[in-house]
Amino acid sequence: MTVQNVESYIAGQWIGCDSSARDIHSAVTGELIGRAGNTALDIGAMLDFARSKGGPALRGMTFHDRARMLKALAAHLGQHKQALYDISFATGATQKDHLIDIDGGIGTLMVYASKGRREMPDDTIYLDGEVERLSRHGTFLGQHICTSLTGVAVHINAFNFPVWGMLEKLAPTLLAGVPAIIKPATATCYVTEHCVRIMLASGLLPEGAIQLISGGLGDLLDHLGGQDIVSFTGSAATAKTLRGASCFQGNATRFIAEQDSLNASILGPDAVAGTPEFDLFIKEATHEMTAKAGQKCTAVRRIMAPASQVEAVIDALSRRLGSVIIGDPAAKETQMGALVSQAQRRDVLEKAALIGQEADHVFGNPDDFVVLGTDRDKGAFVPPMLFHCASPDTANLLHSVEAFGPVSTVMPYRDLEHAVHMANRGGGSLVASVITNDPDVARTVALGAGPFHGRLYFNNQTSMKESTGHGSPLPHMVHGGPGRAGGGEEMGGIRGVMHYMQRTAIQGSPDILTAIGRKWVPGATEITDHAHPFTRTFDALEIGETLYTAEREITLDDIETFAHFTGDTFYAHMDDAAAKRNPFFPGRVAHGYLLLSFAAGLFVQPDEGPVLANTGLDNLRFLKPIQAGDSIRVRLTVMQKSPRNQDYGEVRWKVTLLNRDSDLAAEYELLTMNAYHRDEP
Ligand code: NAP
Repeated sequence: MTVQNVESYIAGQWIGCDSSARDIHSAVTGELIGRAGNTALDIGAMLDFARSKGGPALRGMTFHDRARMLKALAAHLGQHKQALYDISFATGATQKDHLIDIDGGIGTLMVYASKGRREMPDDTIYLDGEVERLSRHGTFLGQHICTSLTGVAVHINAFNFPVWGMLEKLAPTLLAGVPAIIKPATATCYVTEHCVRIMLASGLLPEGAIQLISGGLGDLLDHLGGQDIVSFTGSAATAKTLRGASCFQGNATRFIAEQDSLNASILGPDAVAGTPEFDLFIKEATHEMTAKAGQKCTAVRRIMAPASQVEAVIDALSRRLGSVIIGDPAAKETQMGALVSQAQRRDVLEKAALIGQEADHVFGNPDDFVVLGTDRDKGAFVPPMLFHCASPDTANLLHSVEAFGPVSTVMPYRDLEHAVHMANRGGGSLVASVITNDPDVARTVALGAGPFHGRLYFNNQTSMKESTGHGSPLPHMVHGGPGRAGGGEEMGGIRGVMHYMQRTAIQGSPDILTAIGRKWVPGATEITDHAHPFTRTFDALEIGETLYTAEREITLDDIETFAHFTGDTFYAHMDDAAAKRNPFFPGRVAHGYLLLSFAAGLFVQPDEGPVLANTGLDNLRFLKPIQAGDSIRVRLTVMQKSPRNQDYGEVRWKVTLLNRDSDLAAEYELLTMNAYHRDEP
């Protein structure tokens, strides 16, 4: 068998390993399959390549450009994923595990591609939150903006997800416009290397957007500054070492850490044996122990059950774990593969022995178990191992020692408060799950365990068919946890992009804020000398373009007609005396919806034209009631434009309804889809 020279990609060149390289063995056969590492990598050239080539190229693209790039990259990886599956078996992972790592990684790129297009502007500045009014007359306002860091993101990844671990960091980084240097864990870096080759070969990424270090990082961290960021996933011990690097102490380089975690799963007090929740609990716990052979940062390490249910839980879990087929990961029938390496196997067995000091070993003998289709002793195989601790309050190791394999401990709780207390004894976790059909239980746990967990996962008979599993971090939701789990946060939709951007508070006049954010701010210049804005195409419309309509008087007859036509005969519109008794109204008032309808009647231009559809309205507020005899007129201003596709884009309009005295009667933001200009064929 040939031994692969796993290469690094530095400043546009592939560079092989040197004599310092570390050996990589197959998790399944124990054979030497590769070597990685080179102490002579040109760190300076690498950083310069990222900062002077990759960064400017990415920052020259809008969020939408970058999102389109992610989408194309995901599609390209999707076409080549079989090659990644093929080489990933040697990491000990089964085909099902590949779906988590490889398909999960591609899916994460896809979600970021979609969110980038939907939730970010077609621009290079991201507006964070609403405009803050900082002055009495509105001439001095505030707005937070986010701009791309101009440095490099260094991604240090754990061995267990060589593809997902890279892509879940890469997606928000590239969307933020920041180049990345990827440093995978050596044990599985050959899979990451192959994936990087596929991405580079696609030609979709600008030069310098990604680089790869296979093997050690060298002194790279010593060269980082305040525009750089390190995003780390791995053990608490490594994170502790990294935190001592001079860049964090002296240069305030950003650091995100995703560490190990003693995740708990709680069987709700209501979910006793015989309920669908009990069966669900057993199914999820089994899955979490055996998927990736328990090498998931989110795997369930501590299983908590009401004292009366502990025996039933151990019985049911042991039965299920006993049916799990352990074997050659490439074999179809295999349900659990191997740990990543013999070193990892030794580590897991040592940690299991520590847990064994405080708990009874009730299932899984590492010296006596069957492995299908390959030599058990050559591969890094272990069986699922279940422990039971009858007195978890006096235990310490099982709340602090992470055996990064298929190892979990069942423990009893007296009441919910006790369960929450024990879940929190993990010292900060990535995820805790509660299987319950009782909403009050969920609320109690959310309040008590929330501060100690990055994610709380509730599941029951209603959600079980569609739920994604205790252990699955989703790109939409935050992944990370406090304390022991590292104190970091990743993903969570656009929140994850912000880690790679600088938030800046902008203060200034409405015109200044409008120019910076490309979003019209009330008080900014209004452009009133164009034709009716409904006659103008998406590309022609200008931010600030404004239409003032004619006035329309509201009559009692209008209110009566609208009330009977719609059926909305609410007393405030129909009964003067009753309306007067209400603290909000001076007497009978027009319906808010009537005013909205009249507003549309005032501002639309009815002919067929570039406005294709009204897709909704945001931030509607009725500010002053309108009575019969009063009138309204409308100010309609183009606030923001967001391209959607080649045919049309979304226009956000500020709509303001003024009464006869020019007081604000209502305001909202209207959304329409508007066509681009097309030359007639
Ligand atoms: P690890 O030993 O801490 O290694 C993590 C990464 O750090 C690897 O890329 C490793 O490279 C690198 N590294 C180690 N020492 C370093 C140093 N002195 N300077 C720079 N980089 C260094 O963790 P692992 O064994 O790969 O992964 C298992 C652990 O990760 C478990 O504890 C698990 O809970 C945790 N994990 C957490 C998450 C999460 O999202 N929170 C996800 C997955 C895994 P080498 O491989 O080359 O040494």
